[in-house]
Amino acid sequence: MRSVTGGAKASRGEILLSRESQLALIDGPVIDTDAVIVGAGPVGLFQVFELGLLGLKAHIVDSLPVAGGQCIELYPDKPIYDIPALPVCTGRELIERLLEQIRPFDAGFHLGQEVTEVHGREDGRFHVVTSRGTHFRAGAVVIAGGVGSFQPRRLSVEGAERHEGRALHYKVRDPASFTDADLLILGGGDSALDWTLNLVERARSVVLVHRRPEFRAAPASVARMFELRDAGRLDYLEGQVQQILESNGELAGVSVRTVDGVTRRVGATQLLVFWGLHPKLGPIADWGLDLSRRALQVDAEKFQTSIPGIFAVGDINDYPGKKKLILSGFHETALAAFAIQSHLQPGKKVHLQYTTTSPIMHRRLGVVAPDAESATDTPRRSGTA
Ligand code: FAD
Repeated sequence: MRSVTGGAKASRGEILLSRESQLALIDGPVIDTDAVIVGAGPVGLFQVFELGLLGLKAHIVDSLPVAGGQCIELYPDKPIYDIPALPVCTGRELIERLLEQIRPFDAGFHLGQEVTEVHGREDGRFHVVTSRGTHFRAGAVVIAGGVGSFQPRRLSVEGAERHEGRALHYKVRDPASFTDADLLILGGGDSALDWTLNLVERARSVVLVHRRPEFRAAPASVARMFELRDAGRLDYLEGQVQQILESNGELAGVSVRTVDGVTRRVGATQLLVFWGLHPKLGPIADWGLDLSRRALQVDAEKFQTSIPGIFAVGDINDYPGKKKLILSGFHETALAAFAIQSHLQPGKKVHLQYTTTSPIMHRRLGVVAPDAESATDTPRRSGTA
């Protein structure tokens, strides 16, 4: 994959020209937009809003099938207490509210696809390509990739990948598919315990295997699991999976080496592994942007990366004093939006306006303020953004 800065042997112009000649061969439409946002976590979503207020159109891409980033993937039901003016909300609720808030700006959503390539074009715009072959021509790119794309920690024993998707899963897509299964669950966190308790009614048998006596899951869930174990409703083993057992090519179980040093064969027709997710920076690391400690280096005025026109907001960026908090990311999106406006229309004065009083913003938001007739387009402060 080529980065925006090109390969070692090619100058920027050469790369762009060669890339442009390939562009002529692209089958299908290229989406033209002011900005492509890479990542639909809370910060990427709010970037849509800040760009929208300035009249800029965005398309947003995420490798996950749903918007929400860490809030949805890691803690959908846990409470967040430090979102201004929202004393408490869950991860899911925050994302629902953000989606509601950005609706007026009608951003294009492209979920379940990773942004794999970003190329600079001769005209100063960017050509962005996703893993599903969606092509964009954008005036600016905002990377809101958080800690990267989430990948499950996989079971790394011989033959495991052969069963993936059929008998070995890292996520429950449909609980009904485990009805009457002999189910083996691996893990000691909330997902492992929650699904153990949830599926015990549905599956024919459930065995939970965890490698150590301490659990990361909520103590109440752990206590309930032991109650069910004592009542003979499920089995629990402390140990490590050694081997996949097969019968006629189908999953038949696993062998587990338990803490007492004994290797036991545990029969199972379905295997659920919840060893957590680990983020992978993925293609972002290949785009030729200045990186340090897996974060994109930006200035704290525009949140621009080492390549003009490419910005980075949220957990993915780093600058002196950076705090990986949602509210810091929200602030960054506002400044990045003004910088993008200036990048797209250099020299044009951009007045900062209040959403309370600006008729232009009311039009963009699709709202009619009660005092719309009398409101003037009062600048909050003027200057070049
Ligand atoms: P993310 O939420 O990480 O979203 C980034 C998105 O980019 C992901 O969906 C990923 O799939 C996508 N992506 C990455 N690379 C690509 C690519 N190449 N193509 C397409 N998509 C890509 N913060 C607080 O402020 N308050 C809290 O109380 C709080 N509690 C937390 C609790 C937990 C358990 C955790 C783990 C975090 C918590 N945080 C909290 C941190 C907060 O969740 C993050 O700061 C926030 O999610 C960062 O948002 P983001 O949009 O920058 O990135």
